Amino acid sequence: MRLILMGLPGAGKGTQAEKINEKYGIPHISTGDMFRLAIKEGTPLGKEAQSFMDNGELVPDSVTNGIVEERLAKDDCEEGYLLDGFPRTIPQAEALEDITNKLDRKLDYVIHVDVPEEKLLERLTGRRVCPTCGTSYHVIYNPPKVDGVCDKDGSALIQRDDDTAETVQKRLDVNVAQAQPLLDFYEEKGILITVDGDQAIDKVFEDIQAQLDK
Ligand SMILES: [Zn+2]
Repeated sequence: MRLILMGLPGAGKGTQAEKINEKYGIPHISTGDMFRLAIKEGTPLGKEAQSFMDNGELVPDSVTNGIVEERLAKDDCEEGYLLDGFPRTIPQAEALEDITNKLDRKLDYVIHVDVPEEKLLERLTGRRVCPTCGTSYHVIYNPPKVDGVCDKDGSALIQRDDDTAETVQKRLDVNVAQAQPLLDFYEEKGILITVDGDQAIDKVFEDIQAQLDK
């Protein structure tokens, strides 16, 4: 099974990736992991990527695409792979098509975990953190025993600047603008699977499986 997993921040992509990995035995390949591995192994492309990062520059597509190709060529991708965080743009999606054709490891499906933005806003702005011990809570999904107070040390919980409605909305807007062209691209190719992500975790995974096993 050769897959891409897409979804906005807070959609629960990470959890579903773990479940897909367990069930189908395919490696979960996130962009971050891919870069870290290339850098750790000291491949020429890894070194190149490192030098851009050291200079605080964006790693160009020529390097990123090469790292993707090296990763997808590895033996553990023989039975499939689950890409997460790549591609981010249409040119990258086109490059990925070339890569997977060349490796004879063409994509089967793109799974989109779809959650309405207002729900994501609720999920992402509900986080509260203890400034003393760093424990994190969620006002709806993982509330402390006493409202606004850390269970462990009684400190007053705070909301990080990153988690305010305004910041979260901006982040979502950027991500929507980035994702929509890709969703359209894969829809046109007839390989987009959209799953309702606004359900219990296990139900979301059941829906993914039902679509994949079709
Ligand atoms: Zn605490």
